[in-house]
Amino acid sequence: MPELNEQTDHFAKNWQRQLAEAFTDIDEFCAYLNLSVEQLPVSKAAAKSFALKVPRSFAEAIEKGNPHDPLLRQVLPIRDEMLFFPGYSDNPVGDLEASNAAGVLHKYRGRVLLINTGSCAINCRYCFRRSFPYADLQLGKEKEIAALRYIRENPDITEVILSGGDPLLLSDERLRRLFRQIAGIAHVKRVRIHSRLPIVLPARITQSLLEVLSQSAKPVVLVVHCNHSNELTDRVAEACRPLKQKGMILLNQSVLLRGVNDKAADLVALSERLFDCGIMPYYLHLLDKVSGAGHFEVGEAEALELVRRMSAELPGYLVPKLVKEIAGADSKQRIL
Ligand SMILES: *Cc1c(COP(=O)(O)O)cnc(C)c1O
Ligand code: SF4
Repeated sequence: MPELNEQTDHFAKNWQRQLAEAFTDIDEFCAYLNLSVEQLPVSKAAAKSFALKVPRSFAEAIEKGNPHDPLLRQVLPIRDEMLFFPGYSDNPVGDLEASNAAGVLHKYRGRVLLINTGSCAINCRYCFRRSFPYADLQLGKEKEIAALRYIRENPDITEVILSGGDPLLLSDERLRRLFRQIAGIAHVKRVRIHSRLPIVLPARITQSLLEVLSQSAKPVVLVVHCNHSNELTDRVAEACRPLKQKGMILLNQSVLLRGVNDKAADLVALSERLFDCGIMPYYLHLLDKVSGAGHFEVGEAEALELVRRMSAELPGYLVPKLVKEIAGADSKQRIL
């Protein structure tokens, strides 16, 4: 069974190698999916402003030959991104104003966002990061010291959130050091990680990473990001199991996206599959109004109706909170 062996070898490769082998070329990506570029509304101009980047482990979950696949839609640069939508801008959530000199985003009371790295393993077309200069916020050694000092000097900070970019792109060594330093700050009660890697590059969940996470002196909450049940492959489920066994709290946040998860049945299936993987639904976000993402918008009234229909079909704990982000507000705004 040569195919099976190929698969096994593929997953045995280390995650950095898999990361380096992500699809970045549209023609190659489409050929892999048995789709002709002409069949698709591909835009090279869109790819120029925000590159295509898709790890093979994510591409494997896309249905071959289906131009409407909900996973494909999340990553393929298309012409609609070049359209102008009123109300959309490059800095929709006010992060530029909120980021301070120490390289932390301190918008909400008690919680501080540490931007460790500007990059991600995947480029999601709807992401507000597509036009945000996170690269400038990267936490070099000096900034890391300043950020930790800021946290140390602000006793009302009870939770440090590692975000990005994707914080699990940091090396295990770097993460170990961060956890050790956070461990020394008494008023910090929890460490939270916001990462899409367990979903799009499950090979990242290595034995060594599990050790780093389980040795944290503070409880770890891992919030993954997944929008459709097809993203939760058996391989992803397998990667999540030991995280749960090691006592981590696993939550998921999704973005409500036109053409991806805008049917009640999609959202119900996602919640059910998350539960199978030991992950609890946390937030369902309305789209951040970032330039280039207007075609993904699902309006508030429709979103409300979708979540009401989820509530009619699921136990309450499998219904995510519907939220939106408003620049300058003191928390995410709860819609339902
Ligand atoms: C979303 C966000 C948080 C976390 O908010 P929760 O409601 O606690 O999940 C914290 N800081 C910033 C800047 C955020 O954008
Ligand atoms: S920050 Fe999250 S949503 Fe944005 S590109 Fe990275 S993985 Fe995708």
